[in-house]
Amino acid sequence: MDACLICFSYVPLHRHHWPRTRRYGSATVPLCPVCHTKAHAADPQTIQALIERAPDYWRAQGTWEANRADYERFLDRRRYYEQCRTGGIGS
Ligand SMILES: [Zn+2]
Ligand SMILES: [Zn+2]
Repeated sequence: MDACLICFSYVPLHRHHWPRTRRYGSATVPLCPVCHTKAHAADPQTIQALIERAPDYWRAQGTWEANRADYERFLDRRRYYEQCRTGGIGS
């Protein structure tokens, strides 16, 4: 049985579609209702935990190869926004 990817609780889990990409709906992670709400609110700690734990979860599910491109695209986009915020891009 899956546990919540963020807080590891064994309550009835939701399938959260993440990361959101143009192929929306392909990759999912198991989240409890509380963490699911946080994920939809883009809570920074929740997103960070997803980034750290989702690849291992997908590897265990055998879907890493299928989800890898979406995951890497998500990280690229996130890096780009962070550089914009800290003034790393442009002058
Ligand atoms: Zn949770
Ligand atoms: Zn969701």
